[in-house]
Amino acid sequence: MFSNILGYKVFNQSKNKLIELVFAKKKICIISGNPEVLLNGMSNKDLFDRFNSDDFIIIPDGVGTVVSAKIAGQPVQEKIAGIEVMDELLNLSNEKGYKVYLLGASEDIIQRCKSNIINKYKNIDICGCRNGYFKVDEMNEIVEDIKVSKANILFVALGSPKQENFIIENMSQLPCNIYMPVGGSFDVFAGKVNRAPKIMIKLGLEWLYRVWKEPFRIKRLGKIPKFIFIVFLNRIGLFKKAESK
Ligand code: UDP
Repeated sequence: MFSNILGYKVFNQSKNKLIELVFAKKKICIISGNPEVLLNGMSNKDLFDRFNSDDFIIIPDGVGTVVSAKIAGQPVQEKIAGIEVMDELLNLSNEKGYKVYLLGASEDIIQRCKSNIINKYKNIDICGCRNGYFKVDEMNEIVEDIKVSKANILFVALGSPKQENFIIENMSQLPCNIYMPVGGSFDVFAGKVNRAPKIMIKLGLEWLYRVWKEPFRIKRLGKIPKFIFIVFLNRIGLFKKAESK
């Protein structure tokens, strides 16, 4: 069920299987395992160990991870985009009445994101939302608000690794069942940025579209070849992968 990529256990089956697995757990955090997020974990042992722990599941989000899995000799069945998992979780929440909390992005974006989700999923219960520009001393109040909301699903969009760290720090004291750091997904739901055209997504060129639309991303683009190169070095025995606890 998992591919070993540089010591990471990356889920290698279909999106439908993932959803089944997620709902079979009492508490789980879904990590969108793109090269940038996985590289963050490689420079922080605590993050790496949490990503590999039983209450976390790493999905192969992005062409960089899919190619890396092939190079590692452990291919994944399909690319699973975090934003598509978020959409499916919203769809299921709409059908089954799960409560959803949205944390992150600017106030304008989070409000637009919330109203677009409500327009799309008429019965959805967005039980709370909060922008992602808060001070450290406001953190307790935010955690309390999430607790009181009795959310089943918490989406966090604070950029990586801030969003993963927020979840790791607070997951044990929160009552939610599903936790998911979602990066720029609120910007997409808000209509600030679009996803790439389907043909580009299919060809594995979503990263190119994102850089074209948001050129500041060019600096982060190097993480994809860097990650793939490290996986290649590992495959030929020139880089030792980390072991989790
Ligand atoms: N963000 C936030 N608080 C911060 C830093 C970032 O709420 O302190 C938000 C930002 O507004 C954006 C999201 O986090 O909506 C990060 O998106 P990014 O494009 O970096 O994520 P990616 O999709 O590239 O992982």
